[in-house]
Amino acid sequence: MKECLYYHRLDGNRLRCMLCPHGCTLAEGQRGRCGSRRNLRGTLVSEVYARPCAVAVDPVEKKPLAEFHPGTKCLSLACAGCNLRCLNCQNHDISQARPDEVECYELMPERAVDLALKHHIPGIAYTYTEPLTWYEYTYDTARLAHEKGLWNILVSAGFINHDPLSELMPYIDAANIDLKAFSDDIYRKVCGARLQPVLDTLLNLHEAGVHLEITNLLIPGVNDGGELVRSMCRWLVENGLGDCPLHFSRFFPQYNMRNSRPTPRKTLFDARDIAYSEGIRKVYLGNL
Ligand code: SF4
Repeated sequence: MKECLYYHRLDGNRLRCMLCPHGCTLAEGQRGRCGSRRNLRGTLVSEVYARPCAVAVDPVEKKPLAEFHPGTKCLSLACAGCNLRCLNCQNHDISQARPDEVECYELMPERAVDLALKHHIPGIAYTYTEPLTWYEYTYDTARLAHEKGLWNILVSAGFINHDPLSELMPYIDAANIDLKAFSDDIYRKVCGARLQPVLDTLLNLHEAGVHLEITNLLIPGVNDGGELVRSMCRWLVENGLGDCPLHFSRFFPQYNMRNSRPTPRKTLFDARDIAYSEGIRKVYLGNL
């Protein structure tokens, strides 16, 4: 366990977490919505610090990153927890699990960095679940990795407050941010989150010079409408993000959306046409 960054003490041993826009208020013993930050006798602790439940080696293209050192590999780390509740989550067995519900390794930041160096892997990816909810582990590992000349890749839904993101950004070389839908209503209903903080994250990362790629998973009947795709692309171009690689990804039924159908291939090709017509310069199609 490690004491969390970014929280306030309230009266009666209650705490307020300031890491993400949920701003959970936690009575003693209570966990936040992300499941891995807990009020332990008046101190906010991360229960997953240095306890990844997934450690793997992946090609960077799997993140997906299409234009960041293609052909290279990264050491992928994930701890339990996520501050979103996506009905279609493909990693729900670890993202929606409490720390005591998954098997974990013990891997201090120093050891994670040593592992990458020993196996000649040039970078570390914080991925699979929501690395911003295991912020302290992501931060300490990323900082150390940079000191040793490794890159850091953030794969995230981008639902975080400005100050913690600003503190982390100097150590992040590349990010793929999942833009779930260009609709606050869909964010609330399907993901248990909100759109604007994610848009702010995109702008902040881009402004900080982080190599940014964006993923939009197209789910039939949820967010695959042409006008929604168009308005998203228009916003990206109008806000200077038209050069960021945009990945449209194909949905397959899973978790609480098992009764939906896979995204028709044509939907992805149509989305690509719309994106190009709106001025997006690089479009990639995934899961085809
Ligand atoms: S990071 Fe977790 S505990 Fe903190 S505000 Fe977000 S959901 Fe709540």
